[in-house]
Amino acid sequence: MKLARFDEGRVGVIVDDSHLVDVTAAAGIDVAQWPPVGPTALIARFDELRPRIERALREEPRIAIASVKLRTPVPWPNKVIAYPVNYHDHGREMQAGYRATHQGFFLKPNSSLSGAGEPVVLPAVPGREVHHESELAIVIGKQARGIRREDWRDYVFGYACLLDMVVRGREERVFRKAYDSFCPVGPWITTADEVGDPTALDMKLWVNEELRQSANTRDLVLDIPGMVEMAAAVMTLYPGDIIATGTPAGVGPVKAGDRIRIRIERVGEMSVDVVQGTNGATAVFDTPYTPDIVKQK
Ligand code: MN
Repeated sequence: MKLARFDEGRVGVIVDDSHLVDVTAAAGIDVAQWPPVGPTALIARFDELRPRIERALREEPRIAIASVKLRTPVPWPNKVIAYPVNYHDHGREMQAGYRATHQGFFLKPNSSLSGAGEPVVLPAVPGREVHHESELAIVIGKQARGIRREDWRDYVFGYACLLDMVVRGREERVFRKAYDSFCPVGPWITTADEVGDPTALDMKLWVNEELRQSANTRDLVLDIPGMVEMAAAVMTLYPGDIIATGTPAGVGPVKAGDRIRIRIERVGEMSVDVVQGTNGATAVFDTPYTPDIVKQK
């Protein structure tokens, strides 16, 4: 199943290339609720709610996807976990002397999450580059601490496309990756049963029509079972938690007017516009910085 969130927080199931069905009522979602934890609860109770959702799919009208604004599927997870330097070629282009296997993860703020229908808003930080990072997102389905590597599948709800946007620099990584709209996730969650084996998925990212990143999840340094195991060794994972699995080589700057497109085999394709914002200036980025990216073949 492909679970989308749209407009003012409604939940829909994608039924073909251009239509969804609104299952907000069947999923027990109150769009006026704050904080918006309905989708988090839906994931936790998905097995129980699935028959009601499937009935709604048969009974409710189809809506053109083009007529709605797609939002981020899980706006209020417990956390967004992200693994840095998790493809060797990205490690080489950044000249990083470490890999995720022995570095661990960082966290992105939930407030950085945005959806396919929302732009990436560049902060007013002249002298700095904002880069795209193309990543597969894992969405956790069950609460657990201490997950054994061989049991990882039991805890994964689904997958999505994710852009880990970042202001390049040498300052605190989380600070540089924390701006609002710096974590587009979508265009929806594709449940694990539809994706099958996620350990050999092609992933590509274009800026406008230029192919910038092309990789396969088989090249992950810390693999998907390892990422689930490592995160759960440290923290309790909750339904709706998102894991950004790392980016391959080809990261680079985006500017206002660009359109970023990410496609992951069997997961989905998401395009987001880049616009210039007027706020976000901070003393941290007063000193200009140009990253030294070593182009990989
Ligand atoms: Mn990243």
